Amino acid sequence: MSSYRITLLAGDGIGPEITAVARQLLEVVAEQHHFSLSFDPQPVGGAAIDATGEPLPASTLAACRQADAVLLAAIGGPQYDNLPRAKRPESGLLALRSGMELFANLRPVKIVPALIGASTLREEVISGVDLMVVRELTGGIYFGQPKGRVTTESGEERGFNTMTYSSSEIDRIARVGFDLAVQRSARLCSVDKANVLDVSQLWRERVDAMASDYSGVEVSHMYVDNAAMQLVRAPRQFDVLLTGNLFGDILSDEAAMLTGSIGMLPSASLGTEGPGLFEPVHGSAPDIAGQDKANPLAMVLSAAMMLRIGLKQEAAAASLEKAVDKVLAQGLRTGDLMAEDCTPVSCQAMGEALLKALE
Ligand code: NAD
Repeated sequence: MSSYRITLLAGDGIGPEITAVARQLLEVVAEQHHFSLSFDPQPVGGAAIDATGEPLPASTLAACRQADAVLLAAIGGPQYDNLPRAKRPESGLLALRSGMELFANLRPVKIVPALIGASTLREEVISGVDLMVVRELTGGIYFGQPKGRVTTESGEERGFNTMTYSSSEIDRIARVGFDLAVQRSARLCSVDKANVLDVSQLWRERVDAMASDYSGVEVSHMYVDNAAMQLVRAPRQFDVLLTGNLFGDILSDEAAMLTGSIGMLPSASLGTEGPGLFEPVHGSAPDIAGQDKANPLAMVLSAAMMLRIGLKQEAAAASLEKAVDKVLAQGLRTGDLMAEDCTPVSCQAMGEALLKALE
């Protein structure tokens, strides 16, 4: 029987509540699909600051690197906002991503029929949307050198950053995109600004070169300004959207909001080797923490991504996703998904309904 070690990072705010739900479901689904999971809970973010003074203790990073996969809920809270930047929970998350060398960020956006009314877009535009944004996470303008601020001789202030990608950085993220396209509908749209930027011209050339390894994948290129428009105009045209760090940051948030509900969105961050990090897109929701009001579904869907991508347990991943669809079709809603005139269910009650749906 296969067995896997999961480092579990519950973090802050609603993190412990949604982690408890995901863990219970994972235990059941593993048993049903004949593999075993062992969980290693570790502190990160504010919880780690409280325990050790550091947002990412060395022992937490070591546990993450040694695991088969890492499942993170969320970090942060207002009580840490006045700490120096390096000591804040968010710095722990950035250090975790770079310490695990996670260069690929995957955000699936799939419209759940039962929640179609939650979107700000019309049903005929978004129904059937099922796309995956693949964003490069450790390069591009956020990390390129030189960067900084100077005062010129004339006394004017100048700020500057450098958008840079090497061919190997482009190739490794493009390969993630192409491999995913093969597993999905075999369509990949690479987003750049090649009409203006040299770095984008290189990006486009490398993607085209890689396309010859994937003859079954239909490749297209789109300028980022057009992609931003097409995402709200006709999002069904997209399957895999492959893009760099800056464009991906913006487009993945835009794509996420097609669903209209932040409590539903999972993500994965992957490295070349070593474990992936799976986490909901939302934050620690301090305004509802400890009140049993959190929506655990993004966390459960992140656990499903972990099973599928991190542990290659496709059938178990599909079971979890089916359970989510089932409880939503039954009409269960946490507060964030509520239509008027309904009574919301608690986080725990949603967890219990999911367990039942798995049976
Ligand atoms: P947030 O996502 O935590 O909350 C935004 C709003 O959405 C809030 O009203 C919240 O109650 C609601 N919400 C979010 N997730 C929900 C869920 N699962 N169920 C029900 N409602 C949910 O964003 P924020 O308020 O900007 O940030 C709060 C804290 O989270 C900050 O400290 C921020 O730095 C941190 N944060 C962490 C991550 C992460 O861990 N990856 C991401 C974003 C923000």
